[in-house]
Amino acid sequence: MDIFSSAEFRDPEIAGRLVREIRKINARGISLMEVCGTHTMAIFRTGIRSLLPDSIRLVSGPGCPVCVTSQREIDTFVALAGMKDVIITTFGDLIRVPGSRSSLQKERAEGRDIRVVYSIVDAIDIARKNPDKKVIFLGVGFETTAPTIAAGLIMAKEMKLDNFYAACAHKRVPPALKALLKSPSMNIDGFLLPGHVSVIIGEEAYRSMVETHRIPCVITGFEPTDILQGILALVIQINSGQARLENAYSRAVLPQGNPRAMKMLYQVFESEDAEWRGIGVIQNSGLRIRNEYREFDALRYFDVFVDESTEPKGCSCGQVLTGTITPLQCPLFRSVCTPEEPVGPCMVSTEGTCAAYYRFSTDQGR
Ligand code: SF4
Repeated sequence: MDIFSSAEFRDPEIAGRLVREIRKINARGISLMEVCGTHTMAIFRTGIRSLLPDSIRLVSGPGCPVCVTSQREIDTFVALAGMKDVIITTFGDLIRVPGSRSSLQKERAEGRDIRVVYSIVDAIDIARKNPDKKVIFLGVGFETTAPTIAAGLIMAKEMKLDNFYAACAHKRVPPALKALLKSPSMNIDGFLLPGHVSVIIGEEAYRSMVETHRIPCVITGFEPTDILQGILALVIQINSGQARLENAYSRAVLPQGNPRAMKMLYQVFESEDAEWRGIGVIQNSGLRIRNEYREFDALRYFDVFVDESTEPKGCSCGQVLTGTITPLQCPLFRSVCTPEEPVGPCMVSTEGTCAAYYRFSTDQGR
């Protein structure tokens, strides 16, 4: 079947033209990292890899929030679930991530009250209806999600809720990209920057990174033509020796992002150092709840202690998240680790790179 005739390609003519333009450029052995897990899924789903010449390699990055949540953070969530008179509320993917000794799914099977919610507002509602329980919302995600969690905590304060808490492990994208660029094993020629995160933080949030590291960057949307446009823009830059910040998603991303969302985010959170799976501790890459909202901070209120966290045996999620290897190079991929029996978070999450490789044809996976 002609790939452009699939329903994904709403504008096959433009997509075809972009592919021809990419192919026309004599790109020599370049690696582009799509930072965002949603991009990874879109690239696989639409078969974009198979449209590119062999000289252009797409590498998935650390843009899946569940995947980059550190093992210690997962173990802390599991420990919170074990507390008396507690209801844990969480987004679905997190439940199946294996911790060092247990997972939220196993804890739920053993009778802990762990509920999947679609937003923090659902969790607040559960707290309101269960005044005799302490309700903890597990907050993971990047700058896209953090403002909604901030809005929830502002709402909880206004409602004077005294049985609602958030255990937050939010991460910020730009510091992680800077950390990747400083890594000696980094072998990336350009970044396809995440559309959703950029809507919130804005184009200018990447300016200093591009200028300091001289790395070509293009902010890209999620339609196949957006992604192809982003790839073309990167290939043109790299081929002509430029390193610029371009916004190929200007219909949604403004230079300053969404100031209202950012104001709300920093009303409730402040930056702190955070641990990323596969990367380690990155300065100012996390968000902790400010003192003004400390009564909602589960990590301060509950006395949970995780002494030692260990990564799943044989799992290479750390290397997958930094683009050092592809899932096909993990010995456990498909043989032991599957979406039904995931060993690591990259196989659990709907935005995980291993899940994308598993679900879609591996022959796109160079
Ligand atoms: Fe980890 Fe499974 Fe991915 Fe291997 S295939 S890196 S074990 S999640």
